[in-house]
Amino acid sequence: MPIFEYVCGKCGKVFEKLVLGKSREPLVCPDCGSKQVALKFSTFSSSSTSTRSTPTCAPSGGG
Ligand SMILES: [Zn+2]
Repeated sequence: MPIFEYVCGKCGKVFEKLVLGKSREPLVCPDCGSKQVALKFSTFSSSSTSTRSTPTCAPSGGG
């Protein structure tokens, strides 16, 4: 499920919000009710570290 983390810009409360495709409800802080919420990016736990990135869906050949 696409659960995103949001942080309130008023009280600083961090809460998770389940984002659905169709349903789009306004984002409000569940603590203070402020609309000044920003999407919080969480770090992904990666076991191996790779410096170079591999191009996905590379245009090989023709069509
Ligand atoms: Zn708040």
